[in-house]
Order: sequence, then structure tokens, then C-alpha cells
Amino acid sequence: MRALAPRDLELIRTQFAFPDRERIVANNAASTQPPLALFELLRDVSETYENVHRGQSDASIRTTEMFEASFDTVAAWINAPSRRSLSMHRGTTEAINAVMYSLMADFRDGDNVVTTLMEHNSNYVPWHALCREILPRFGRHVECRLARFDRETGELDLAHLASLVDDRTKLVCCTGGSNFLGTKPPLDRVREIADAGGYDQPDGHRGALLLVDAAQRFASTRLDVQAMDADFVAFSFHKLLAPFGVGVLYMRESLRSSLPPFLYGGDMIAEGQVYPDRVSYNDLPWKFSAGTPNILGVIASAQTLRLIVDLVGADAERAWFRSDDPLRPESVEAAMSIVTDHTSFLTQRAMDGLSSIPGLEIHGVPRGQERTPLVAFTVHGQSPFDVARALNAQGVESRAGCHCATLAHHELGLEASCRVSFALYNTPEDVDLVVSAVRRAVETPDAFRRVAALPEAAL
Ligand code: PMP
Repeated sequence: MRALAPRDLELIRTQFAFPDRERIVANNAASTQPPLALFELLRDVSETYENVHRGQSDASIRTTEMFEASFDTVAAWINAPSRRSLSMHRGTTEAINAVMYSLMADFRDGDNVVTTLMEHNSNYVPWHALCREILPRFGRHVECRLARFDRETGELDLAHLASLVDDRTKLVCCTGGSNFLGTKPPLDRVREIADAGGYDQPDGHRGALLLVDAAQRFASTRLDVQAMDADFVAFSFHKLLAPFGVGVLYMRESLRSSLPPFLYGGDMIAEGQVYPDRVSYNDLPWKFSAGTPNILGVIASAQTLRLIVDLVGADAERAWFRSDDPLRPESVEAAMSIVTDHTSFLTQRAMDGLSSIPGLEIHGVPRGQERTPLVAFTVHGQSPFDVARALNAQGVESRAGCHCATLAHHELGLEASCRVSFALYNTPEDVDLVVSAVRRAVETPDAFRRVAALPEAAL
């Protein structure tokens, strides 16, 4: 665990829109800031601005090449065997909903889905809705079971998880990294537990399928979907410097071939193969790409990944940025280990500083444990919203609320918490400023009372 050298960090910061100290961006678990190069890239792409798979012009062909190459970049980033196992969506939320709709018809009366109490709502509400609202309309009763976590340590209770999985567990859904507690559950153990379930899947696979919500894990760790051995992995690019509105669903290729798509329409059908009595679907991955995709978002996101390798100097041949050369796995590994080291260092420093503030309680995984780069806390007798506004008055951007981890807040008897979270461009000085701003907010709340009133839009 090591911070980036100050000179490297300063250089990285010049690539973003906030090189000065006016904004301390500590709300990165919600969304990170994009590098300035992204906006230049969008201008370059506008030179051949065209739709993909829908034209014979040079511009359309060039855009199609860039779009398709983006799938290869993402596949390399997450060590997927090929682009065939990927589909692009609006984000993690839509990717998880895509799994829900693709699997829906396969659920039998009496099956169950197991998820956890530490999930983001996007990995709980779809399963709740499936079990409580959608399937009952078809006369099928499927139970949604929730695995506990340890309220003291924030760790997933693996024994409880194992006790919930049986031979009717079709699917286990687990976070790869909590956006509130910081927990990174041991996914190898979760896989073993899912496999022990004994469900007979239609493709002959025995055991529950495993879905990992990797939205936060993607932001700070190299995702290796093959090592993770999950059937579905969902994440959003805006958690790692790329633009809003694009996310990925990795799905094991054998499932991609056999499961139905989530959206139907143009481009997902085989050329010319639509008749009144039958249609044939396109090859992978386009079978899961109905309608005009978010072309700019996908290209920009993949280029951002390449840019990260360049930003942190993880590849000696820096000149390849923006070329069509494939990403080397070693470069991805090296780049993300720098991001992991740096953000872990910052998080540890924040935990050390915050834990010395009287009346402040940190929630989740204790100091010293591997965690997502965020710290959620409450202050005795103070509203987290007031604390967040008092931080804002001191230039620190944080977040108060349930962070969509509503079930976990209920488990801890909390209505809300305040959260600070860090990214590649944050400095150790940022963390110290965050800690002293929190200390001032906690020790002299009256000084901020006037600014603490929240505008309606923020509630
Ligand atoms: N899961 C987790 C753990 C998250 O942190 C988030 C984003 N807050 C999501 C899912 C949802 O991501 P998106 O809003 O991009 O769909």
C-alpha cells in the first residue's frame, strides 16, 4: 500500500479539470471526474460521427471499427475470453436488470434467489420485484433470501449465506465491494457456496449461478472475471474516470448463447432473418445489442481505460494511446495495482484521521482490512446531511444518505450516513483536508448552521 509519488500525482492532476485546491473531490464512490483528454477525444470522434452497423460510408465503417474495438479493450481490461461475453448497458443497474429479464422465464415455482443485506439497491430491488411482484403474476412463487453481515466488522456472514443456499437456489447475487461498508467479500468462497447449492441448471451446470455487482470493485481493483469465476459481472464506467451512462455486463459465453436477450429490435437479429413466423438472432455479442447503442459513451469509456494505463505510466511504450493496438494484460494489471495501492493508502489515512474525532463512528470493515476506497461514518447527535453541507462549505465534496445501501443502513439502525471516497487523483493532502474539515464540522456545528440548510433538490 503506497501513495503515488507527489510529482507523478501532480502530473496526473493536471490532466483533470480541478488542478487547484478549490474542489476537494471526495465523492468518488458516486462518480469520478473525467480526464480532460476525454473531451478532446469526443471532438476527434466527431470527425467521423456516424451510427454503427448502419451505413457503408467510410465514416460509418470507421465508427463501427472504433466501437467494436472498444469491446476488445473492455474484454482485455477484465480478462474476459473475448468480446462475445460482453454487452453494454446504461450502467450496473441496467446490466443487473438485463440478467433478471433474461433469466425470468427459467425460474420455477419454489426456486429461490439469494442476495445479501449489504447490496446496493440495484442488486436487491430487481430480485425483490421479481419475487414479490413479477413472478407471482405468472403463478410462480420464488423466494428472495438475504444473507446477513456482521454488524461490528461489516464482513459478509458466509456461514449464514451457506445456510440459505440449497438445491432450489437458482442464483446467488453478491456485491464485489460494498459502497457503504467497504467490504470486499471473498468471492472465491461465495462461488464455492453457490456451487454447493445443487440446482440443476438447464445447460447441465449443477449449482447456483453467481452474479457479482462489481460497480465499486471495478473502481479500485483489477477485475479478472475468469479468476472470479462468476457467471455474470456488472459494472459502470463512471466509477473509474469514464463518462456517465455506460456499463457492462459480462456473462459467461455459454449462457450468452443459450439465454434470451433482454431487449428486442434492430441490430440484434441476423441480417435478413425476420419473417412473420420466426426471427433469428445475431451473433454474439450483438444479439444483446438492440437499437442504436451509446456509441460515444462506449468508445470514450474504452479509451478512458487505455488512458488510465498511460496516466499512471504503467506501460513504457506510452505512445500507443489512441492507437488501435490491443491492451496488454500486464499493462492493465500494472495500472490497476498502482490505483489499488494509491487509493488504499488514502483510505487508510482517512480512517486513521477520522477515527480520532470524538463522537464520530466509522461503519463497516475495520482499519487494516482490504476495502473499497471509501469511509462511511455518523456523528453522535448530528445529521449526516448537516455534516455533508458543512463539508461542502469548506470545499469538500462528500455524500450523505443511504447511498442506495438502504438495507444495510436499516441493519445498523441508521437512517443515513456521511461518506467520503477517494480516487486516483486524490492526494494525501486532500485526505488531511477532508479530515480537518470533518473535525471542524463536528466540533463547531454552529459555525455551519446557516449553510447546512439543504436546497430542496439535494433531498
Ligand atoms: N452497485 C454499487 C455497489 C454501486 O456503488 C452503484 C453506484 N452507486 C451501483 C450498483 C449502480 O450503478 P449505476 O448507478 O451506474 O447503475
